[in-house]
Amino acid sequence: MHRTLKHCWFLALALGVACAQSPSQAADDAGERAFAYVEQLVALGPRPSGSEAQLKQQQVILEALRRLDCTVTEDDFTARTPRGPVAMKNIIADFPGPTGRINAVSGHYDTLGHADVPAFVGANDAGSSAGLLLALAEQLNGELRRDTVRLVFFDGEESVIAWQGDDHTYGSRRLAAAWAAGPERERLQALINVDMVGDANLQLVYEGNSTPWLRDLVWDVAASLGYSRQFPAGQTGYIEDDHVPFVQNGFAAVDLIDFDYGLLNRYWHTEQDTLDKLSPESLGIVLRVVRETLRELEKRP
Ligand SMILES: [Zn+2]
Repeated sequence: MHRTLKHCWFLALALGVACAQSPSQAADDAGERAFAYVEQLVALGPRPSGSEAQLKQQQVILEALRRLDCTVTEDDFTARTPRGPVAMKNIIADFPGPTGRINAVSGHYDTLGHADVPAFVGANDAGSSAGLLLALAEQLNGELRRDTVRLVFFDGEESVIAWQGDDHTYGSRRLAAAWAAGPERERLQALINVDMVGDANLQLVYEGNSTPWLRDLVWDVAASLGYSRQFPAGQTGYIEDDHVPFVQNGFAAVDLIDFDYGLLNRYWHTEQDTLDKLSPESLGIVLRVVRETLRELEKRP
């Protein structure tokens, strides 16, 4: 992702210091499960699109999903990048409900593959989003629901060379265009994208490119669960991420991203993005908010 407007780092720093976890935010099992998946994915090493490790990661994700009561779709495509064609794969898991309406939760699973950070393992970016989606899949398994819940693992979120032109969000741009021309046009109510949601010092951006009603629904749910410190409102930041192609195609979409990762975001896109910076508690908090938001979305007419 990419920040398009800077806001006050000093404020972010002050809020960050004030934002330590309290004992009342103990991890539930799902947070621990998500963390265990992140650990498993990080152990594969750097996982940029088209790499051997990315192929292994795809097998881990597919094997985990195929144990569950969902319909798994592999969306294979060749991305035209500034470095030439790259084989990519979006992975989609549908947990069906009877209404026909779809609420989607998405996140990318590729990691940055730039030459200047060769040992980048991306625990938070994108281990946390992939791990959270796999833990959410386990929670959804066997549950009764009205609307279909669709989990989407995007490939190719990261740029191959630099975040400019079309060199980013390859998987989400492809799916947003396909869904705008398909049955999802009528069926998809909302898409919740998660990215960098594992930071032990969790503080999400009140994100300005997101659809306002959906973002405010998530923030209201978070407040009702006691997570206003992790989901602060009022200071809007603007992030380009996998939700943007969906908003541009007329869908309701929100980005849940913590773009204050270490002092002045210094762990972001560096070899410092490692497992020791993450906590099961943070993953559990975001999981709880996402699940409660899905329940609220089901209540909408
Ligand atoms: Zn990134």
